[in-house]
Amino acid sequence: MILVAVRRLALAGLLVSGAKLAAQSPFQFPTANHALFEPGKELQFFAPTAPDRSWTTGSFGCVRTDGWQMHEGLDIRSLQHDRRGEPTDPVMATADGTVMYFSTKASLSNYGKYIVIRHVVDGVEIYSLYAHLSEIAPGLAPGKTVRAGEVIATMGRTSNTSERIGQERAHVHFELNVLVNDNFSAWFKKNLPGERNDHGVWNGQNLNGLDPRDILLAERPGAKKFSLLEFLRGQTELCRVLVRATDFPYLKRYPALVLKNPKAEKEGVAGYEIALNYNGVAFALLPRAASEIKGAAKIQLVSVNEAEYHAHPCRKLVVQHGRWQLTDKGLREVGMLIY
Ligand SMILES: [Zn+2]
Repeated sequence: MILVAVRRLALAGLLVSGAKLAAQSPFQFPTANHALFEPGKELQFFAPTAPDRSWTTGSFGCVRTDGWQMHEGLDIRSLQHDRRGEPTDPVMATADGTVMYFSTKASLSNYGKYIVIRHVVDGVEIYSLYAHLSEIAPGLAPGKTVRAGEVIATMGRTSNTSERIGQERAHVHFELNVLVNDNFSAWFKKNLPGERNDHGVWNGQNLNGLDPRDILLAERPGAKKFSLLEFLRGQTELCRVLVRATDFPYLKRYPALVLKNPKAEKEGVAGYEIALNYNGVAFALLPRAASEIKGAAKIQLVSVNEAEYHAHPCRKLVVQHGRWQLTDKGLREVGMLIY
């Protein structure tokens, strides 16, 4: 009813913002570029890696290096620039939230200057990330609360990669993530000795991306109501692993993803069977009793969804050598989760 009323107002010639019309998703576009809603106009929304490349190279997934490299966000194309050709698009918070981190030292990350904001939607924590910024809004600081649509930065082309971002593909790199582990810094020190971690827990490796395209499309007027929790729970399983670990931060951060198992409740939890999507996002954690666990290994592969592996192989979490097994990358990803 409300939507109908708002539409009538719009027809009456009053200015109604897209955000008001489309209250279906708790997340808004981070810039004024909304061309994602218009089928066939993908090239106006996504910035491909080169002019002769498909728009999909600017989307989320196994879209780089002939499908063998993951791109964990959306590259949303610039709509406006100054006389020198530099992007000037305001970048806005995708939802109400709290600023957790920003980095103004472009040389310290392939994200360049970037911001991380924490949101709680449907009781679920989600972290938005905005990268390659030229300037961060004055007054923004960790701990500051922001409103959806509030300007937090100006689009830019900052990055520390040798391949610069050209003016013609200026974009904001936008991610929506789960946070893997509060103990990331300690894990990093132990597992990657000698390597620098300039961003603590806000290192991109500790933020596991979901496809923001699906989430933003839910904002389209007329789309059915979006539930972040259902979206997370409804991820397609790449594989299932069993871990002999019972106390890791993810369980407390995402209790809504922990399933019920009366047997484990009765006998005591000795581990968790964890469903991972192709990007390594843990989206279902089933407690297991000792009597339900075979094998002594701390991390075991239980099953692989082969169709999903073939559709999205680029994270290389599992490999088939005769039988399926976790790769070193897969073991590392799960090890980081339960550290
Ligand atoms: Zn990107």
